[in-house]
Amino acid sequence: MTDQYAVIGNPISHTRSPLIHGSFASATGQELEYTAIETSVESFARTVLAFRDTGGRGMNVTAPFKLQAFDMSDERSARAQQAGAVNALKFEAGRILADNFDGVGLLQDIRRNLGVEVTGKRIVVLGAGGAARGVIPQFLAQRPSELIIVNRTVAKAQELAAQYSAENSVRAVGYTEVDRQPFHIVINATSASLRGELPPISQTVFAQAHLAYELAYGKGLTPFLRLAQAEGVAHLADGVGMLVEQAAEAFAWWRGIRPDTRGMIEALTIPLR
Ligand code: NDP
Repeated sequence: MTDQYAVIGNPISHTRSPLIHGSFASATGQELEYTAIETSVESFARTVLAFRDTGGRGMNVTAPFKLQAFDMSDERSARAQQAGAVNALKFEAGRILADNFDGVGLLQDIRRNLGVEVTGKRIVVLGAGGAARGVIPQFLAQRPSELIIVNRTVAKAQELAAQYSAENSVRAVGYTEVDRQPFHIVINATSASLRGELPPISQTVFAQAHLAYELAYGKGLTPFLRLAQAEGVAHLADGVGMLVEQAAEAFAWWRGIRPDTRGMIEALTIPLR
């Protein structure tokens, strides 16, 4: 039987993962089938186990199931443990292995694809939800000079910063404190853009920025990116590169071969203008 893989989420109709993994499989000569599965919170664990028991070898996990996937896994990578959430599962010898490639994917996109260095830079991450949890430890591993986490619900940002503050220059603040500080890299890890909203920042947050990165993808110029453009930020990017890079990491974990990502990023990119 052909090896089975799937992405699981709710909703799932928007997913690009079957397209991405199908293309990776063709490019690397791997024989596999990759589908999309929609389920409910109540049925999540049952659906994962049924998939595994009928030939499933691995899954990508997307909203809102990243915490449930964490809870039901038997072994978690250090990255998954740090994030407290997983976005990829592998079924091996009766065990469920879990990892989180969101942060690795983002850092690969920023450093390798966009050619922007993180070490020694001042970074601000807007948002303290699931995506922020995955990307913050990966930023810190690159030793920025300072990382500021900003969130509407400040307590969530504070809780996240406290996890890392012993060894790193990381702080949590509210939106009112962030505007006049100079940042090199501004990351929008809020879900505001999914509703066409702007987090409560003003243009001054981009005054010294070299890169404005929007984690949402496929939306063109979001209000966040539009503001950065107005301030003349050199690099504007959305999360399509992160999406493809995290997929390539999962593919390599499952199949032992890392596909080239450049063509797929180009194919999925919606021009930012
Ligand atoms: P969560 O629901 O876990 O977190 C949402 C975050 O956004 C919270 O910090 C919330 O603040 C904040 N927020 C929501 N609306 C606003 C607003 N109007 N103004 C300010 N803050 C707001 O979402 P995720 O972390 O899972 O996802 C965040 C984004 O990342 C989404 O756009 C998602 O599509 C994208 N993403 C992209 C990936 C990729 O591969 N490119 C992978 C994963 C996610 P509060 O806590 O105060 O409510």
